[in-house]
Amino acid sequence: MSEIIVGIDLGTTNSEVALYRDGNVTIIEGESGPVLPSYVGIDSNGELLVGDAARNQYVVYPERTVKSIKRMMGEDVRITLGAENYSPQEISAIILKQLKNNAEKYHGAPVNRAVITVPAYFSDAQRQATREAGEIAGLEVVKIVNEPTAAALVYEAGNHGSKRVMVYDLGGGTFDVSVVQIEDDVIEVVASHGNNKLGGDDFDQKIVEHILKFLSTEHQITEIPARSMARIERAAEAAKMVLSDKPFAAIEEEYILEKEGVPFHLRMEISRHDYEELIASFIDETLEAVHIALRDTGLAASDIDEILLVGGSTRTPLVRRRLAEEFGMEPRGEMDPDLCVAAGASLQAAMLGGGEVRAVLVDVTPYTFGTSAIGEIDGEFSFDMYVPLIRKNTPIPVSKSEVFYTTHQGQEEVEVKVFQGEEKDARDNIEIGRFLVSGLSTLPSGGEIIATFSLDTDGMLHVSAMEKETGLEKSISIDNALSRFEEDELNQARNKVQKLFGESVVENSPAEKTGAAGGMKVQAEALVEKAKKMLDGADDDDREEMVDLIEEIDAALQAGKQELLREVMNELSEIIFFLES
Ligand code: AMP
Repeated sequence: MSEIIVGIDLGTTNSEVALYRDGNVTIIEGESGPVLPSYVGIDSNGELLVGDAARNQYVVYPERTVKSIKRMMGEDVRITLGAENYSPQEISAIILKQLKNNAEKYHGAPVNRAVITVPAYFSDAQRQATREAGEIAGLEVVKIVNEPTAAALVYEAGNHGSKRVMVYDLGGGTFDVSVVQIEDDVIEVVASHGNNKLGGDDFDQKIVEHILKFLSTEHQITEIPARSMARIERAAEAAKMVLSDKPFAAIEEEYILEKEGVPFHLRMEISRHDYEELIASFIDETLEAVHIALRDTGLAASDIDEILLVGGSTRTPLVRRRLAEEFGMEPRGEMDPDLCVAAGASLQAAMLGGGEVRAVLVDVTPYTFGTSAIGEIDGEFSFDMYVPLIRKNTPIPVSKSEVFYTTHQGQEEVEVKVFQGEEKDARDNIEIGRFLVSGLSTLPSGGEIIATFSLDTDGMLHVSAMEKETGLEKSISIDNALSRFEEDELNQARNKVQKLFGESVVENSPAEKTGAAGGMKVQAEALVEKAKKMLDGADDDDREEMVDLIEEIDAALQAGKQELLREVMNELSEIIFFLES
């Protein structure tokens, strides 16, 4: 058996080791999973701590713990830990040695060779220090590879042709963007820019500030003991992660501190909407860096063929959304963004070992699934704005939630439609199911309904809608959500061809088949109610037109004329939209 070469992502916050064999990448697990926090410490007995144990210790004994040593690589400094002084190479070597040990345990034999990744902007001195760290750990560093190159390999290895990809890497403490040129098997970083003081830790900090503000304004608590603070920081990060998948996160910490001698429990909620406002300026900063990187290479956004997401913080939906808006394409993040660089390093290692490699395959949904809501399509008011919940190329299984609001006072039901497709107007997508949630509590309009889409590896799509206030819930399960469209798409394609040949086609839009009357009626009533409320504030002409349209809506509803109803509703919506803005 030839000697294996492992791939190592030696990160600022976390590190991983991976092995590529027989077409598969394995991220090698240590005692607490595949991710080793890049922390090193000495405990009170003088014992060495690496990874999670050191990270936990950092909270209480920062003076005996080192984190983010990567930032010091290449510098001539000494770090005091316990009774000894260490160079940055030595601290990094401790992390590398732990990864080497994990790999040996997994492999059942010595592991002596590695490919290690570094940021594209690392200087010669920093690269050399990384090499030395490997050697101190007992590893022959076969190659130092740029992190964006490794990420690109994961997606592009074995694919022939020419491509320009942008690697957007947002980790815990750093942000890097690189433009990578791929020509068959040659991958080259052509531009790189970043901010090594921006990352997910800043997002956590914003939530921490939000919690502190809540404690001070709602409960007049301003003195926070250090231990409570550490718990708040952890809770903030946990809430942030929940908000990547759900519209709300509960922050609950029992007995977080004592207030006037009485135990105080922290109980609050943060919405994704509020969170996104807190972090919006950070995302703007990353986009500015993206444009600088492009400018450096004389490229425009349209010259980029693909965007690859790397780093744990790219799970933040706002990151993906802003990139999609900016570039007009969905960024790719099928490969776990925390593990992508290590996986790429292992591919490079396998190539250096003489093996054939190909892009890593991950189980993803090839389709986007979502629902519809009242909103805007290209600036125009619409009842059928498509709201994607699970996007194409998301690894499965996956579960995503989104919040929707009731539109009128006393609304007793909402109809949830389930679509597959990418079009902005939900009606242009394929409707694959719908259900009614009735018996809503008669709250004022703006009642929160949480829709959750869960897709499993067998292609079962489970959709539920829950009234947040009462917990009232309804759901449907759709079998073969992944394969049925092949048939639907085939049918659509077949119909298209038939039409081209002038043959008659049986239209089978599910919306038409099942009759959208129920949903339209609810929407029409909501619209009429809203319009009536605005009559007083409208000028004479608008008021007259609105009254006419309200009558026409009533008539269309009575006569069951769907198409006419939609037209008149659109006219009325336009006036309302105009008056509101
Ligand atoms: P990395 O340095 O690539 O390991 O990324 C670590 C950062 O990713 C930390 O700030 C984490 O809090 C953040 N992170 C991990 N999972 C998520 C998630 N689901 N949503 C948002 N941020 C996350």
